[in-house]
Amino acid sequence: MPLPADYHTHTPLCRHAVGEPIELAAQAASLGIREMGFSDHNPMPRDDFDNWRMRADQLDEYVAKVEEARRAHPGLTIKLALEVDFIPGYEHWIRELASRHPWDYFIGSVHYISPSWDIDNPSKLSEWKKRDPLEVWTAYFERLTMAAESGLFEIIGHADLCKKFCFYPRGDQAALFKDFIRAAKDHRVAIELNTAGLRKDCREIYPSPTILQMAAQAQVPITFGSDAHAPEEVGLNLAEAVQLARGAGYTSWVRFTQRRAEEVKL
Ligand SMILES: [Zn+2]
Ligand SMILES: [Zn+2]
Repeated sequence: MPLPADYHTHTPLCRHAVGEPIELAAQAASLGIREMGFSDHNPMPRDDFDNWRMRADQLDEYVAKVEEARRAHPGLTIKLALEVDFIPGYEHWIRELASRHPWDYFIGSVHYISPSWDIDNPSKLSEWKKRDPLEVWTAYFERLTMAAESGLFEIIGHADLCKKFCFYPRGDQAALFKDFIRAAKDHRVAIELNTAGLRKDCREIYPSPTILQMAAQAQVPITFGSDAHAPEEVGLNLAEAVQLARGAGYTSWVRFTQRRAEEVKL
């Protein structure tokens, strides 16, 4: 069986990745991957919002680079996408971005749980130490639920990013996930199996087996992504993610073309 599509990859425009789209595509092709998508971090209305995304005036350049990779690798299906921060109040901006190019999908991700705290940012680890993990996880999943309900995204990114640095709430966490899973089911939003978690302190694919099992039971569709920030990370651990998905009962993933879903056998 060929690997499923790698739908989560970054480019140097986000200022913390290496390898141009053409190089990432070459890596995908060499691994026998038939389909991939570029999903770099979306620009914000203000370029000084933070320092880990492209500027607004680089969006056309980003699209041109993805198109260049398409031309160089005609045997590989390459999707045009963005990983978009879901922050309440920016819905209008996200719709504006959506209207600018023929996107195949938007991955909605929560990194910020307050205007100034991106919880996965290693330079802000001290914020975690000041708080009860349960409070942070609760705020994170409330936002993730809003993202799933927003109608702005086809896929929700790294659904339990809050585990990245191993600040876990005590006791059973399943109650935290319930509303999110219901929102994903009701709004037909996919979740991704994101293998970058294996390369972080948590050493576990996003999302956890518990969330994946709840998603499978609710028949929430899935995609796969390496969250590659370098060519050698393309497709990384995707085979392991497929095993995990099969173990949870999944027999298909979803492909997105111009924001329409199509089921593909796993
Ligand atoms: Zn992300
Ligand atoms: Zn990412």
